[in-house]
Amino acid sequence: MIFDILSLFPQMFASPLGESILGKAMERGLIETRLHNIRDFAFDKHQMTDDRPFGGGEGMVMKPEPIVEAVEFLRKTRPTPLVVLLTPQGRLFNQRIARSLARVPRLILICGRYEGVDERVAEHFTDEQLSIGDYVLTGGELAAMVVVDAVSRLIPGVLGNSASTDEESFTEPLLEYPQYTRPQEFRGYRVPEILLSGHHEAIKRWRRGQALIRTRTRRPDLFARMTLTPEDEELLRQASDEWRGRLWKESE
Ligand code: SAM
Repeated sequence: MIFDILSLFPQMFASPLGESILGKAMERGLIETRLHNIRDFAFDKHQMTDDRPFGGGEGMVMKPEPIVEAVEFLRKTRPTPLVVLLTPQGRLFNQRIARSLARVPRLILICGRYEGVDERVAEHFTDEQLSIGDYVLTGGELAAMVVVDAVSRLIPGVLGNSASTDEESFTEPLLEYPQYTRPQEFRGYRVPEILLSGHHEAIKRWRRGQALIRTRTRRPDLFARMTLTPEDEELLRQASDEWRGRLWKESE
């Protein structure tokens, strides 16, 4: 999969995309990130990429010409890219969107700066607008990194064990169960006994119950989208009892 990233600060991407799993995926040719400086597509004398807003107001707005020149230049080559503008006003990025983008062979990610990008870019020259959350960043670079990271790890072969993306949070509208590792006891806090039992089926049921109870407690909005089987109902009841038991013990 190819990510073409359009930014005024392409050097920001070097370290985050070069390390660890993404770095290895790049070495192995599973993903490729191509960084393009928007300024290189500004063909006026001063290579201007921003200007004052029409109608007045604070700050500067990114001009449409350099961005559209860059998009059109990249669109001449194959595979045909999907053009995404990062903006706090876009569709809220989530795991479902990450999965659908992981099936696209090439993405162009446009990173805004300042007061944002001239609206005509969003309206006429992009296929999709994405926001990574209801807050405002100084630029689209961090948002683009989030998208590249979340999408890349879903591409077959990028993670050593692709089964690990099947069970994690949001695969269903469900948070993942709690994870523990060695030591069995840390500062007096023990790992739940069931995880040490070796009973795989019982562990699977316990984990499902934990995922259900924690989603219901922490993310009722997600939980409302779950369709529970009769077994889920039973596991949820057991997990609620265990949960209440723990709170009771803590208050003793
Ligand atoms: N004035 C704009 C507004 O209120 O919608 C915000 C502009 S923001 C300071 C500058 C750039 O950061 C945006 O053009 C966008 O590319 C990026 N950005 C900021 N917050 C973002 C978010 N939550 N998701 C995606 N991109 C974001």
